[in-house]
Amino acid sequence: MSQISVGSWVESANHIGCDFPIENLPFGRFYLKSDHLKKERIGIAIGDQILDFFILSTSIEIPSELSASVQLLATANLNTFMSKSDADHQLLRSWLSQLLGRQYLERTKIQAALIPQIDVVLLLPCEIGDYTDFYAGIHHAMNVGKMLRPDAPLGENYSCLPVGYHGRSSSLLPSGTPIKRPTGQTRASDGKPPYFQPTRRLDYELELGVFIGCGNELGSPIAIESAEDHFFGMCILNDWSARDIQGWESTPLGPFLGKSFATTISPWLVTKFALEPFRCPLTRTIKANAGLPYLESTQNTQGGAIQIMLEVLIQTEEMRSSGEPPYRLVQSEFSEAAYWTIAQMITHHTSNGCNLRAGDLFGTGTLSGPTPESAGSLLELTFGGKQAIKLPNGQVRGFLENGDTVIMKAYCDLPNAVRIGFGDCVGMIV
Ligand code: CA
Repeated sequence: MSQISVGSWVESANHIGCDFPIENLPFGRFYLKSDHLKKERIGIAIGDQILDFFILSTSIEIPSELSASVQLLATANLNTFMSKSDADHQLLRSWLSQLLGRQYLERTKIQAALIPQIDVVLLLPCEIGDYTDFYAGIHHAMNVGKMLRPDAPLGENYSCLPVGYHGRSSSLLPSGTPIKRPTGQTRASDGKPPYFQPTRRLDYELELGVFIGCGNELGSPIAIESAEDHFFGMCILNDWSARDIQGWESTPLGPFLGKSFATTISPWLVTKFALEPFRCPLTRTIKANAGLPYLESTQNTQGGAIQIMLEVLIQTEEMRSSGEPPYRLVQSEFSEAAYWTIAQMITHHTSNGCNLRAGDLFGTGTLSGPTPESAGSLLELTFGGKQAIKLPNGQVRGFLENGDTVIMKAYCDLPNAVRIGFGDCVGMIV
């Protein structure tokens, strides 16, 4: 059983199973559905409401040590706030916990700054400059490796460094944006001429997103001991993939148009402070050589991983029209799925002097569990489309069809902590 929340006077935040209790307080960017100008605002999710910083900044007196932070948030500048120190972030968090806590008495003014979540359109949580996708899911790397190189599924470098590639930030989309089936070049089999057509092997990848807070100067690597200082928070990430385009184009340089047509993320930025109770030791089920010292630290080994439960659900057009709920395809868990920690990704990314900036995003790589049923992509679940999966209504899927909606969920739930959730990451194929 999870612990009971300390509670908020916003009653919906106290409901069992609520993603946004007072222990979470994730940041989001949005505009009001009623606002024709679509003015961007920043807020904090609490229950089924959003605490809006623009209204808050004018409705109550802001403590002087918080005025700079609140001013940034009131003017929808989350990136600059993210680049501030942990101490600044914690100061705001404890003030918000106080304002929204059960004991707080002057609620009327705070109440005025609450907006129902159903009245807003959620956007990407911040300006995302650069996006890098890692490949830290060891079971995914193993599953895919077995299809390509049965004798040596993992590359020799896999246990030495967190493998990654530079993705596109321009096609990062907030949850709910329809996904247009991409067209691209592929070929049927070895030696046959290529052709150009809409992808027939459209897939999802279950990943988490990692947001960078404070960046680093070009030429100044981030040591593993201080890597967590640059970690701001997380979201769910669906790395949509066109397997036929990807397979043909990826020699010798790796992912390109098979990935860059769309990447969906969940709209709430869950901070590292909210994730603190779910820290756990880095455990590796696959025997590996001792890592190079620049990627290792005691703190990272003892508490560098985070326990986060993950789910993928599907709802086909037929299911939707007959009123059937989404069907859960898989469940997996971040700390069990990932070979590398967030700190190791940050340190390795900057080890050549590459600079990260506030709002940069990492994908973790596909977070498949250790069993075939817990795989984080259809490529793995259907063994490359060869064994279609059967849905409860009798429909079968090798890859995604038009009208399919993919829903990803993430939450943290441990006996000695209050459950927190990420909100959904949703996309429908059109
Ligand atoms: Ca990926």
